[in-house]
Amino acid sequence: MPKRLLVALVVAAAGTGAAAIQDPIDNIREADLKRDLFALAGDAMRGREGGTLDEMTASAWVAERAREAGLLPAGDNGTYFQFFPLERLRVSSNSTVTLNGKPLRMGVDVLPDTTVLANVDAPLTVASGDNLDGLALKDRVLVVRYAPAQPVTGNALRTWLRGIQRAATASAPAAIVAIVPDAAAEQWARVAISFPRGTYGLDPDGTAEPRAAPRGMPMLYVRESALGAPVRAEDAGRLVASIFTDSFTYPSVNVVAKVPGRDRRLAGEYVLFSAHQDHDGERYPVNGDNIWNGADDNATTAVALLAIGRAMSAKPGRRSALFVWHGAEERGLMGSRWYVKHPTVPLTSVVAVLNGDMMGRNDPTTAALLGAVGPHRNSPDLVQMALDANTAVSKFVVDSSWDDPQHREGWYYRSDHLPYARAGIPALFFTTLLHADYHTPFDNPDRIDIAKLAKMTRWMYATGRTVAEADKAPAVDPAFKLERCRDFTGNYCGG
Ligand SMILES: [Zn+2]
Repeated sequence: MPKRLLVALVVAAAGTGAAAIQDPIDNIREADLKRDLFALAGDAMRGREGGTLDEMTASAWVAERAREAGLLPAGDNGTYFQFFPLERLRVSSNSTVTLNGKPLRMGVDVLPDTTVLANVDAPLTVASGDNLDGLALKDRVLVVRYAPAQPVTGNALRTWLRGIQRAATASAPAAIVAIVPDAAAEQWARVAISFPRGTYGLDPDGTAEPRAAPRGMPMLYVRESALGAPVRAEDAGRLVASIFTDSFTYPSVNVVAKVPGRDRRLAGEYVLFSAHQDHDGERYPVNGDNIWNGADDNATTAVALLAIGRAMSAKPGRRSALFVWHGAEERGLMGSRWYVKHPTVPLTSVVAVLNGDMMGRNDPTTAALLGAVGPHRNSPDLVQMALDANTAVSKFVVDSSWDDPQHREGWYYRSDHLPYARAGIPALFFTTLLHADYHTPFDNPDRIDIAKLAKMTRWMYATGRTVAEADKAPAVDPAFKLERCRDFTGNYCGG
């Protein structure tokens, strides 16, 4: 555009006052959300698993789009990135297992249930069925054959073995061996897929020694067809096993960007928009599809933050806007736990955290806002701002039932706002809740309701805009207290 024409336009806009400024919310467009969603959740990103090159690729993509949206880098050392170490422990494929004289290949014929170090050389006690009554188990190896209950649902094999473990533990067996018939191949595959991954950890200070696996009682799955002959009660066989572990450190990464505030007095305060860019990567195939795209979980909010970034860049708030795409959320809220320990702006300057996770499915007229009712509500001011923003721009019927501390899914405990709420920062979680494609290869971009995602994005933005413009930051409720501890999978962790 010729320079003179540009000047003329600017003068015209200034002449008509604020009314001539396009409302920045108009920068949140369905077409942009759709384009970005299909790129980030497309098969080329291979499911963006935390700690892998695929997560790095996706994170670089997010940072590049953030730069295009006009956001400035706010990560470590003037970059868009904050790298952190993911720890990973697994049973080594060099472990040796011999059952009744038959050597078994770890990872092929035999799989571990848990990551423990162990040396076992003990006689077998073979159960008939699942009934352990009257069996001699102390210092012996309990052998049980898996007979799937119908219908087979979820991780039925693992759940069944945990039941056997509970029944046997008091008798102190040396090991438990589950014989898995080939008919249960799908359940076998579910265990096998996690074998090379093992378990993940994070040293939130980054200073401790690398984790070592504990010694413990091994629980092993053995493929029945690898044995050659059935294990019978009258065979006086033995299990001889040496179980070793491997440990690795892998990089994961948070992507961090900002739009500086326009009010010099308030620009040192931040409203933090939060998402996670990782998902579950490539796993066992279902109907031939082995890429777990994580379109709803959580490419939806990852691209929503880009759209919100465009809107905040178009007209910066009085306060600054901070955007954090957290890495390795699916491995246990690793990125948000790391950021809270290693914030790139003072944590005390973050006045609100608006986190989204899964924002594009289910009934188009309803949505949920977690942290909105007690005991999870840690800022009534912030909740009011969000409810007012909903009334103004999105008009969802807000479902607060999932905020109930007795809700069986423990949904409040399962996303990246949690470490911030624990750190005493007003925090909310925007979501459109669970569905049948959750954590399957069918969470694909073509199943996302783009219009609903746009409404959710506008709701998050409008809430953040209110926080950014307010004279007073939302107050924390000093009475806020999490009623009980749950880990990221929703399981109680005591306390
Ligand atoms: Zn998620």
